Amino acid sequence: MRLSRYLLPTLKETPAEAQIVSHRLMLRAGMIRQEAAGIYAWLPLGLQVLRKIERIVREEMQRAGALELLMPTLQLADLWRESGRYDAYGPEMLRIRDRNERELLYGPTNEEMVTEIFRANVRSYRDLPMNLYHVQWKFRDEQRPRFGVLRGREFLMKDAYSFDLDEAAARRSYQRMFVAYLRMFSRMGLTAIPMRAETGPIGGDLSHEFIVLADTGESDVYCDRQLLELPVPDDQVDYEGDLAALIAPWTQPYAATEDVHDAERFEREVAAERRLHTRGIEVGQIFYFGTKYAEPMKALITGPDGVERPIHGGSYGVGVSRLVGAIIEACHDERGIVWPDAVAPFQVGLINLQQGNLDTDAACETLYARLTQAGIEVLYDDTGARAGGKFATMDLIGLPWQLAVGPRELKHGQVELKRRATDERSVLTLDDAMAALL
Ligand code: ATP
Ligand code: MG
Ligand code: MG
Ligand code: MG
Repeated sequence: MRLSRYLLPTLKETPAEAQIVSHRLMLRAGMIRQEAAGIYAWLPLGLQVLRKIERIVREEMQRAGALELLMPTLQLADLWRESGRYDAYGPEMLRIRDRNERELLYGPTNEEMVTEIFRANVRSYRDLPMNLYHVQWKFRDEQRPRFGVLRGREFLMKDAYSFDLDEAAARRSYQRMFVAYLRMFSRMGLTAIPMRAETGPIGGDLSHEFIVLADTGESDVYCDRQLLELPVPDDQVDYEGDLAALIAPWTQPYAATEDVHDAERFEREVAAERRLHTRGIEVGQIFYFGTKYAEPMKALITGPDGVERPIHGGSYGVGVSRLVGAIIEACHDERGIVWPDAVAPFQVGLINLQQGNLDTDAACETLYARLTQAGIEVLYDDTGARAGGKFATMDLIGLPWQLAVGPRELKHGQVELKRRATDERSVLTLDDAMAALL
């Protein structure tokens, strides 16, 4: 992508309305634009990152055996009356009427709809286990939308729903999601710790929140520091096998959100030097809720014995748009964002230090073409801006590599390659620079 053809409305000044670093940097890097309180347009750079996160989420869901579908954002109120949640949900639900006075709502979550889809199409235990998910915009009329995309009103969520014949099978489905979550957050460059959590309005008796530690987080959390060092299951994990042994190291050490925190147990089980009481950002949550929806909504399945019974369900959310902010909270310095490679909007920022100079222009065009051909995503700053400004912009938007082409080094056939995260620089020939990036 040529910067001269791109939309990157960066800001030099710090926007006054942004209280925390990720919100400031997303505005300054021209990633989002607020259209109303808690409602954002995703500008091209922001969207690139959102898509990268979505892709990782999808790959890990698929690996764990989940099936993608896409449910609409608007739902009928009557569906929610079946579960009893239409009246229970309260002011966070955006309620709408169409021209025929039909009551609709903008979905804050999809248990009812997916249960309706399931009951209409699946009857036999032979079709189980089943896990259906989608990545779709949600609306919750949050009392205090703030911190940019961390607490929006409209936000992108991945939500998955599992269906099983009995509790034991449902717990295995829960474990598959547990492992998939460990993997997806880790691939995004995050340390997300699963913590025992309250089940909230969804109900049920088994839930974990995945929390990224950050001082700016809204959750108050307590955990054993050893959880920060645990290795995440690799891509050879067998989702058909028994996952209990993989999960045990994550669930045995103490980790709990404030709502379920047990101070006595914390002190008894965790040595003083390993106790961590801090704040965090909830990037995902998994629930087992049993027959909570299947019973009132009559999602019944015939078992091997020929008897019909309500399915056992779980739901599994990931805050896809919140993750963009959470990753920046975890990955930035005083100059700007430092994207982990896997979610970077482009891998390389190619900087022409003297646009209009025949030599630098030609070298940049060559590098741009070769890198692009090799499948590397390049943002080529081909504008007439001054070198200092170009470096500052690249630091701000945080691409993992910067490749600077200036007349002085180019006289010796060389360019400068910089790693954003470490500030490590090396002066290399064009070929060596290419080789380093491939
Ligand atoms: P919170 O405690 O932050 O209000 P929640 O527990 O209400 O979140 P869930 O119902 O568990 O949210 O939804 C699944 C995921 O969706 C959350 O783990 C979070 O990552 C994301 N999410 C929830 N509310 C928002 C929001 N207002 N803006 C952005 N992401 C959100
Ligand atoms: Mg909430
Ligand atoms: Mg919560
Ligand atoms: Mg939650």
